[in-house]
Amino acid sequence: MVKKLYPVCARCTKAVCYPQIKSGEEPPIDEAPAFCPMKLMPEVIEKATAEYDRPEVKEFARLASVQEFECYEQLPEGRRTKIPRVEELIQFAGKCGYQRLGIAFCTGLTNEARILTDVLEHKGFEVVSVRCKVGATPKERIGIREEEKIQGPGWLETMCSPIVQAEILNAAGVDLAIMLGLCIGHDTLFIKYCRVPMTVIAVKDRVFGHNPLAALYLANTGYYGRLMTKTK
Ligand code: SF4
Repeated sequence: MVKKLYPVCARCTKAVCYPQIKSGEEPPIDEAPAFCPMKLMPEVIEKATAEYDRPEVKEFARLASVQEFECYEQLPEGRRTKIPRVEELIQFAGKCGYQRLGIAFCTGLTNEARILTDVLEHKGFEVVSVRCKVGATPKERIGIREEEKIQGPGWLETMCSPIVQAEILNAAGVDLAIMLGLCIGHDTLFIKYCRVPMTVIAVKDRVFGHNPLAALYLANTGYYGRLMTKTK
């Protein structure tokens, strides 16, 4: 069976979309691999790029790129990073003129939510926050069985309710929603229902201190080599 081509930038060794050439020179798109989205889907790229012609989108994208630029400093010994994500968040929210920020946090990261609230308030923002358990809805509501409760059978276990978190932040009129440590799947629902601009300060990783990339860094070692074994 002939496999249909689809974009696989992760396996590209050419990266002609990111060429080291001077302004005004043309990126050598012809040299891109056959699976390059620039070859497979030029019409999608053209249509999506046209979105930047909308003034508000163009300005937002410009501010994001200015923020990206400001996260580095050029020193005689070379380029160096200088701004951690929390400060990047503060600076970008300031650039956008945001005043009211909303944190959607996991109950397991309550302490971090408090600290983040302190930090953002100290920088002059108004900070709304909503815990994942908001609504106190029992897990039975979504069909969870007694043996699927984390605390064990017999306990009232309230569900994580990312849809409610999103709707509360929507209703509270926050300028920017910030996800803090929501689980996989819960974050998917939050993103689906959130209707205000949204960003992520941290994702949940119960094993690696909320740094899922640690597992990837260990994937080619004896510690987490199991990630690379093929599923039959
Ligand atoms: S867009 Fe094309 S050239 Fe760029 S990384 Fe993807 S496959 Fe490679």
